[in-house]
Formats: sequence, structure tokens, C-alpha cells
Amino acid sequence: MSHLQGLRCRECGHGTDLAAVHVCEHCFGPLEVAYDYEALAAAVSRERIAAGPASLWRYAPFLPVLAGPHPPARVDLGAGFTPLVPAPRLGAALGLDDLWLKNDTMNPSYSFKDRVVSVALSVARQLGFTTAACASTGNLANSVAAHAAAAGMDAYVFVPADLEEAKIVASGVYGPKVVAIKGTYDDVNRLCAEVAGEYGWAFVNVNVRPYYAEGSKTIGFEIAEQLGWRLPDHVVAPMASGAMLVKIDKAFSELVQTGLVAQQPWRISGAQASGCAPIAAAFKDGSGDVRPVRPDTVAKSLAIGNPADGYYALDAVRRTGGWMEDVADHEILAGMRLLASTEGVFAETAGGVTVACLQRAVQAGLVERGERTVAVISGNGLKTVEALAGELGPTYTITGRLDEFEQALASEE
Ligand SMILES: *Cc1c(COP(=O)(O)O)cnc(C)c1O
Ligand SMILES: [Zn+2]
Repeated sequence: MSHLQGLRCRECGHGTDLAAVHVCEHCFGPLEVAYDYEALAAAVSRERIAAGPASLWRYAPFLPVLAGPHPPARVDLGAGFTPLVPAPRLGAALGLDDLWLKNDTMNPSYSFKDRVVSVALSVARQLGFTTAACASTGNLANSVAAHAAAAGMDAYVFVPADLEEAKIVASGVYGPKVVAIKGTYDDVNRLCAEVAGEYGWAFVNVNVRPYYAEGSKTIGFEIAEQLGWRLPDHVVAPMASGAMLVKIDKAFSELVQTGLVAQQPWRISGAQASGCAPIAAAFKDGSGDVRPVRPDTVAKSLAIGNPADGYYALDAVRRTGGWMEDVADHEILAGMRLLASTEGVFAETAGGVTVACLQRAVQAGLVERGERTVAVISGNGLKTVEALAGELGPTYTITGRLDEFEQALASEE
């Protein structure tokens, strides 16, 4: 497609062809997909997007879909175009009048990672790869395994050995090789960088990371379209590597640049668990240096101690006037329960992080009551039931006799 210009270094601007590379050959900076926004603006319209599929592929012109004589079909399980719903009861509990949830628990493998994987594997197939791989904190492994199965690709997913059971099972069921590493995600990632150099595999978040990262933009596109082609005032996103947050900000810029939405100021804010908060810590220090940490938190999906996009996340949040917060494990669990009991949305621990950080920020006076705020709820609670299992047993356990039930009810008074 003519509006795709290739890859460009985010640091020095050096350009290179679309291929399975992720670092600049000049300065080792990260590569990003580059577009010709004039050509892109000419190719898109609200009507054309609205007539597209009810998936992230309605935004195909904004994604790195390679041209070719016989491009293989997209790797598509229907990720994206998830509900954006008002959250009045959670808003009332927090002290916000215009709160919304972007419910990414409702993706094919129940997390936002389906967006990045659908894009990464579509490109990988076009580049001729037949094996998909990833370094994962759990959700990415689930998604790579599912999409690879549907695409008929082989898959190797690498995860920390101490993951939640559901995330191991919900990878294995699709038939990949699951490689459990006795160590942290950062150990997993280091190994994968070496393996990616040795084997001809498409590691979605290593050698094809520039394409993978573009998939996250679709959350931002959808939020604007679902608000009637208007930007929100404020988005709160959970951060692991920081890439999703950075790409939501990029999406809003692209919508303005292509004339699909009117320019208006927006803020973007980041949420982390205190047990792994390297980006939030740098934000609070006022520093540009993200110092690696050793994760220890119940929010395993966010447990990246050395986040690849930390620097860019700091930039996006500072530039837009947002904030970063971090919350302890008990606040994360309380956040999961508050979200579920007010809005009927059962999120995994990452959703608890987002809700609890938003609560903190409201209490600190960092969010205006009337600000139109969207909280990104990025994964499904059934993936991390261990986190709450100890707290949420049955209310009563009785035999099937009415008098026992009546006694149990009476014991409440
Ligand atoms: C991966 C993940 C994120 C954040 O991803 P980034 O690495 O910051 O892009 C957020 N929530 C969930 C549930 C995830 O699995
Ligand atoms: Zn460079």
C-alpha cells in the first residue's frame, strides 16, 4: 500500500525497508512503522471505516499490511472492536461523572494482546514465517498460541514458570510448545532475544515488534469512533512494557492528522503495580531514566522489570499532562472487586491495577470530576482467579434444608 513508507528509527530517524528487524542499524534505537499521512488521509473516511468488519481490521489502512502479488489471508480471530461502556456506578464510587470502560476482556483469547498478535502474525506470514514465538507474561502466550493454531503455524511460547495456572492451560490447549523458564519475565525476554537470532521464527515482541506494537493503536481508534468520532479528555492505561499506552497516544495523533477527529487536548495516564513500578517510579522522581526492578506482584501480566517502552511512556504522559500511579497488591484485589461489583466486569489483576490507580489519582486531586475518562480494562478475571480465590469462598455452606438456609440468613442480623 502506497501510504506505508517502511520502518523508521524512533531515535535518529534512519529509514529501512519493511522486514523482520526491530533495531536501527545506525544507533540501535527501536524501529517504528512509518506512514505517509497525506496518502493515508486520502485513503480513509469515517464512512469507510464504519462499513468495515467489526474487528480491529476496520482500521487496516492504519496498520502495516504489506503489499504483495498474493498476500496470504490475515491472521484474524476477530480481535478488537470491543465494547466501550459508560461506568456510572464505578464513577460514583470514585467521584467521577463521565467514566467509561474499554472492555478488552472480550477479545478472542480474553485480553488486549489479541490486537497486537493479529497484526504481528499477519505481517509475519506475509514475510514468509511459518513459526510464531513470543516472550510472555502469560496473555501474549495465550494469544500467540491461539492465532498460530488458527493460521496453521507452529508456535513456541516462552513464559516464567510461576505463572497462573489458567494462563498455562490457556496456552497449552492450542497445541504450541510451552517453554517455562525458572526466572522472571526479564530472564525469559533475554533468552528469547538470543533464540530469535538463532532460529528463523517470528518472535512477535522481538524481531517483529514494530508491527506488533502497531496493533495497540486500535484501542485508541476504537475509543474515538465509539465516542462518536471524538477524543476523550483522558485515558488511563495499565503499563507493562509501556507500549500500549504509547500507541494509544499515537492513535489519537494519527486520527487528528488524518482529519478523522477534531483536534482537542487529551491526557494519558499510566498505572502500575507497586511490586513492579519502574516507569511510575521514574515519573515520580521527575527522571527520564527507567531503572530496572525485580518484580514481585500479584499482577503478573504487568511484571516487566525492564520495560522496553518506559522512556516513551514517560514522554507521552508528561507531554499530555497525565499522571502515573502505582498500587499495592491489596489495593489491586480491592480494585478488581470494586470494578466487578459496580459494573459487572470481571477483570484480571491488571484491571485491578488500573481501577485502583485511578482511585488514588482522584483522591490526590489529579482527575477532574467532569473529565471524560476512559479506563482500559485489558484482561479477563477468569485468567487470574488465584488472586481472589482466598478471599471469595461461598457466603454460606449448608445442606439442602430450608431451615439451615433460614438459619444462615438469620445469622447475618
Ligand atoms: C501485556 C498487558 C498489558 C500492557 O502491555 P504493554 O507491554 O504495556 O503494552 C496490559 N494489560 C494486560 C492484561 C496485558 O496482558
Ligand atoms: Zn537510529
